[in-house]
Amino acid sequence: MESWPLGVFASIDAGLGVCLDVAHQLGVKTIHLHTPQQESRTEGQAREFLAQLQDIGITITCVFGGFEGESYADIPTVKETVGLVPPATRSARLAEMKEIADFARRLGVDVVGLHIGFVPHEASDPDYREIVAVTQDLCDHAAAQDQAIHLETGQEPADTLLQFLGDVDRKNLFINFDPANMILYGVGEPIEALQKLGPHVRSVHCKDATWSDAPGVNWGAEVPLGEGDVGMEAYLRTLQTIGYTGPLTIEREIPQEPARQKAEIAGALELLNSLKNKLHT
Ligand code: MG
Repeated sequence: MESWPLGVFASIDAGLGVCLDVAHQLGVKTIHLHTPQQESRTEGQAREFLAQLQDIGITITCVFGGFEGESYADIPTVKETVGLVPPATRSARLAEMKEIADFARRLGVDVVGLHIGFVPHEASDPDYREIVAVTQDLCDHAAAQDQAIHLETGQEPADTLLQFLGDVDRKNLFINFDPANMILYGVGEPIEALQKLGPHVRSVHCKDATWSDAPGVNWGAEVPLGEGDVGMEAYLRTLQTIGYTGPLTIEREIPQEPARQKAEIAGALELLNSLKNKLHT
């Protein structure tokens, strides 16, 4: 595969990212797929879906998990609702995440991503050990079918994430690096974080954002790629430095404005293509 194939975050039914036909119209060849809803994760649907993808020449490089009841409305709501961290839904979501991994397997995809949620920043927090155990359980389920688990960055500073990876201690656990999330959640400079996390980064999102005036308390703002505080050229140069050659997957979460979303992703593709040429990849 060529270095840095361009991609986009996409979904089949209600989910994050753009619809498949938009991905096709944009001419991308790889996608991160936001998992379809539970009733669509059948063997038959997987076959049908794979045939459709083959027709349009698109490869899924990662299936992203997501759960009913998650909300990204603001930072406190994310803490309460997202991923495997909220205690009330933890065991049910672990079971569902395993099902999502099984569905990814049916699609022939060996990478499963997720936002695990707000891992407590103190390893002494009693909840921390439990979240480590749940993550080990998920990794072991994935390893048994030759899959890797990629944790999306965002809610933790790089050092907390490194400690967490070390404590989970599984060979199939890696990072999906999203530079904009570091800014949106106010957990650190993305380029510095990428340098620290480098050896663990196995997939990435290309997304941009501006810092809020109260980082960590209020969201920053997600903006079109190249217009935020990430610094796309520095981002790609750092990816080059850490030896990352996998897909560059564009994420733009404004599903309420599909026409604008498509136009901005087209702009992002143009920007990434010109930077790829500049950096001679
Ligand atoms: Mg992302």
